[in-house]
Amino acid sequence: MINFNEPPYIGEEEFYISQAIKYKKISGDGYFTEKCRKWIIRNTKVKQALLTTSCTHALEMSALLINIKPGDEVIMPSFTFVSTANAFALRGATIVFVDIREDTLNMDEMLIEDAITDKTVAIVPVHYAGVGCEMDTIMKIAKKYNLYVIEDAAQAVMATYKGKPLGSIGNVGCFSFHETKNYSMGEGGALLIQDKKMIERAEIIREKGTNRSKFFRGEVDKYTWVDIGSSYLPSELNSAHLYAQLQNAEKINKDRLESWNLYNTLLKDLEQKGYIIRQSIPEHCIHNAHMYYIKLQNEEQRIELITYLKQQSIYAVFHYIPLHSAPAGYKYSRFNGNDKFTTKESARVLRLPMYYGLKKEDIIYVVEMITKFFIG
Ligand SMILES: *Cc1c(COP(=O)(O)O)cnc(C)c1O
Repeated sequence: MINFNEPPYIGEEEFYISQAIKYKKISGDGYFTEKCRKWIIRNTKVKQALLTTSCTHALEMSALLINIKPGDEVIMPSFTFVSTANAFALRGATIVFVDIREDTLNMDEMLIEDAITDKTVAIVPVHYAGVGCEMDTIMKIAKKYNLYVIEDAAQAVMATYKGKPLGSIGNVGCFSFHETKNYSMGEGGALLIQDKKMIERAEIIREKGTNRSKFFRGEVDKYTWVDIGSSYLPSELNSAHLYAQLQNAEKINKDRLESWNLYNTLLKDLEQKGYIIRQSIPEHCIHNAHMYYIKLQNEEQRIELITYLKQQSIYAVFHYIPLHSAPAGYKYSRFNGNDKFTTKESARVLRLPMYYGLKKEDIIYVVEMITKFFIG
């Protein structure tokens, strides 16, 4: 059987977790959370990085940080995970979707300006598959209209756009360390802050609306309720698990990229024969092999291929149902302009097995079976 995903595992996780227990510090912001924070800052050059209980929560913190209120509008792609939209809908915003690009499936930066109204507050680019959105154009538009940029970089740890780490380009960026992502703590994430003015308030929001972080640093002599907030800091047990993986980030990244490149080489023939379309990576983007997907003719063919692969014990999956056509989408969002690619392309995407430690012979077998499906 070839799973679609297996959580990354390095082998030092148990030892680090046992260390956290031995240090008698299993709640948040201890030794391992600090190690992870430093790793993120060192590798992304952001001004502050706060580990969170999920990327969903990092996105929610972003919405609180930029004071989203009912009636505000936030622009994003409809081809994304629910959390991208939910974080802002929770605070009463209307979600305004724009279409995606046919090549990267990222939001089409050329359609953003047309979606801006006097209610627009933020743009939320999602770096799908760890491939960067056109951030130069997006940042230029944000500056022109005085909008915030919140990067959903859930899939993009260790990936760059024109040399800049994804998640470090906008005002804030959000990472995910869910078990399906490249580096994991079970459930968890991080808020990356590039905008200096936001740092202190982010620490307060993460600590239940208190200035406890300042108290721990000895900057105030008691801590108290100073703002709204919630419990967004993860346990040391989870951070210890993550730290084992961040220490081995290069190794994990290299292994995933090798798998990605092998798929890409082996599937070239099927693309040349016109059966499939392979993933497209712009020159100036370095990706992190978060996923390997192919595009098929249509939804019917996708169902047939998934079923066929399952019979060979290979698990391939698809996602997302475009948010604007989901039940909550009718309530909380509108789609600006034409849906030229979002619905069509999302119905063609098939994600192949991809995880740290995936065996080369398994990749060869997957490609053999896909070839057999098309050619016999
Ligand atoms: C995984 C993912 C999230 C949510 O991450 P969690 O850590 O599970 O909350 C958000 N956005 C995108 C694009 C994702 O892929």
